[in-house]
Amino acid sequence: MFLSTAVAHYTAAAASDCGRKRPSNEDAFGFSVEHGVYVVCDGMGGAAAGEVASSLAVDEMMRLLTSRDADRALVDDAEAAVASANASIFMRARNSRNLSGMGTTLVSLLAEERRGWMINVGDSRGYRMCNSRLEQITLDHSLVEEQVRLGRMDRLEAQRSPFKNVITRALGTQSSVTPDVFELETEPGDLFLLCSDGLTRELSDAVIEWLLKLDLPLQEMCARLVAAANDAGGHDNITCLLVRAEA
Ligand code: CA
Repeated sequence: MFLSTAVAHYTAAAASDCGRKRPSNEDAFGFSVEHGVYVVCDGMGGAAAGEVASSLAVDEMMRLLTSRDADRALVDDAEAAVASANASIFMRARNSRNLSGMGTTLVSLLAEERRGWMINVGDSRGYRMCNSRLEQITLDHSLVEEQVRLGRMDRLEAQRSPFKNVITRALGTQSSVTPDVFELETEPGDLFLLCSDGLTRELSDAVIEWLLKLDLPLQEMCARLVAAANDAGGHDNITCLLVRAEA
């Protein structure tokens, strides 16, 4: 008789680092293993605006998704939380001249036993490591990645493009936003990575996969990912959040 093992619980760890070139850290993250909510945001805008936008988004997601009634699907509440975070950043930006134009990316994992969803806006990424293979789940909302997907640009051109920083969707810059939603079935042993582009601009997927294969404690792997991105230049803020499905 074959008995499949169910995911019994999740464990998580995260690290965020300023990097080597930026004066401040505009990334933010939050998670609650108990509520199955994990979020990474990468803010943008002048001066302190990026920090305000990314922490507003994380705070709003965590506030709404750790106090919800469980009668609605987690993913539906998460989409509502994204809309609410978008509205609060947009309003705040409109009401304050030095915050005008601020915005943030968002990538989130929602996990309920065997079911999971990834939600994203912008170019922060969600990956899954399954059977020692790393797979990018989310699709970047960036000008160059969209050109690559349309076959109009190759990867090398994308890396060299002067437009590589242009993102095509962000939280807080418009009155409404539509996130992409990816549904997943999780198995014990699956490892999820949420990260800002400060990690993925410095490290190729092959290097990230190699580091995750070391199978160290999650906090140690977060520290190694950040250290590797800094060793590669640390041009931007670096944030990574790892979540493992345990048997
Ligand atoms: Ca960034």
